[in-house]
This record gives sequence, C-alpha cells and structure tokens, in this order.
Amino acid sequence: MSKGIVVPQGLIAHGRGEAFDYILGEETLPAATAATSAAAAFLLMAEHPVLSVNGNTAALAGKEIVNLSATISAPIEVNLFHRTNRRERLIASYLKRLGAGDVLGLGKSASSTIRGIASSRRQTDPRGIGEADVVLIPLEDGDRAEALSRDGKKIIAIDLNPLSRTSRAASVSIVDNVVRAIPALTHASYRLKKMRRTSLERLVSDFDNQRNLAGTIKEMIEYLRGWA
Ligand code: ATP
Repeated sequence: MSKGIVVPQGLIAHGRGEAFDYILGEETLPAATAATSAAAAFLLMAEHPVLSVNGNTAALAGKEIVNLSATISAPIEVNLFHRTNRRERLIASYLKRLGAGDVLGLGKSASSTIRGIASSRRQTDPRGIGEADVVLIPLEDGDRAEALSRDGKKIIAIDLNPLSRTSRAASVSIVDNVVRAIPALTHASYRLKKMRRTSLERLVSDFDNQRNLAGTIKEMIEYLRGWA
C-alpha cells in the first residue's frame, strides 16, 4: 500500500478473504484442487484467455501471475476499481520487473467497455478482455464478475468466499488463497498441456460449479467440526 499498488479498500477486501482462509484451515481443499484442474482445462482450450490483475493480486501474487501467463501464453490486463493512470503504470512496471511481457489495459488502450458496470472497471482493452473468451479474475467484486459473464465470457474466479456473488457468477470458482491457488493453477496447466483435447473437453464438461461450491462449504463445515 505504501508503494501505491494497493488501496485501503483493497486491504479490507483482503481481510474479508483472510477470515474465510481461517475457516478452511489455510490449506487448499479437495474441492479447490478439482476446480483448479477444470480451470486449467478452460484456459488451455480458450482461444483468447486473459488474466485480469488488480492491485491486491499484483501485491499478493505478482510473480505467480507472471509465471502463469508464461505457462499458458495468456496476456495480463490491469483492471482497477480505483483507477488512476499512475496506479496502472505502477502495477504494470512492477509486473514487468517480475518478468511480464506486454501488460494490457493501460491508459487510452482500455477503450472497450463492459456493459452494466458503473465504475471505471468497465474499461477494458480490446486486445485483452475485450476479445477474451475466458477471463481469470482473482480477488474480484461481484458486479464485474456478473457483467463479464453476461457479456458471454467464461469466468474463472479465485475467491476465498464461496458465498460471494463472484464465486456464484463464475463458470469455475477456485475457493482458495491466491498465493496458493495461482501456483497450483500454473502447475495444473503445465501438466494438462500434455493431455489430448478430448480429455480437456471432458474435464470442462464434467465440472459443475454450483456442485463444487456446495462441496467446498461441506469441506469447510467438516474442518470446523474438527475444532468443535
Ligand atoms: P461480491 O461482490 O463478489 O459478493 P465482495 O463485495 O466481498 O464480494 P470484493 O469487495 O471485491 O467483493 O472482495 C474481494 C473478494 O476477494 C472477497 O470475496 C474476498 O473473500 C476475496 N479475497 C480476499 N483476499 C483474497 C485472497 N488472498 N485470495 C483469494 N480471495 C481473496
């Protein structure tokens, strides 16, 4: 936050996530591992996958997102709720220092709009989220997740809260901390790259997000029962 990458509201969102991390034992649940495989299959089968990055994701898992981008050849687009040119450039140069190539969504290049969102988050890059068929949205708010999904894009969320609108709007919700989930997604993508397209298609068609979210909640209850 002192560098200007994360805003105070971002810290509050982070705190909400940490509260959920406690009640899943700060470990990756089996349901999250299943969602991660489905997410990797979605990303590998996509024509235009894009990784949407906000301040929190850059700060918590900047290097991890750069590694994922290189593994699946998907561009990174900066998309901020509290958007300023300075913050966009700060985040882009931070990611570039970590090894990112071109970073999309900066300044005037974010000339497309997602319908149905009032905030400056509606601005997207026509070379990135604008033309994307699959978008990874770690640590995202529900308005944007729902609007992207209404726009016909397949959404992969990483969100510690299985009850959030984001988790419910996504095609695949990985309920896990971004610091664990993004490296796991990179690992799964690397492994699945060797698989046939028919196997990837099966992973996608067999995945039911609502059922997986219900499974996540049951796993959280089991964990809490252990403490009770
Ligand atoms: P929604 O609008 O989707 O119902 P929200 O209002 O809580 O939920 P935001 O304010 O943008 O949405 O909060 C960001 C989301 O990111 C929260 O659901 C929070 O649980 C999640 N989150 C916070 N920190 C992390 C993290 N480290 N890893 C994964 N998810 C996180």
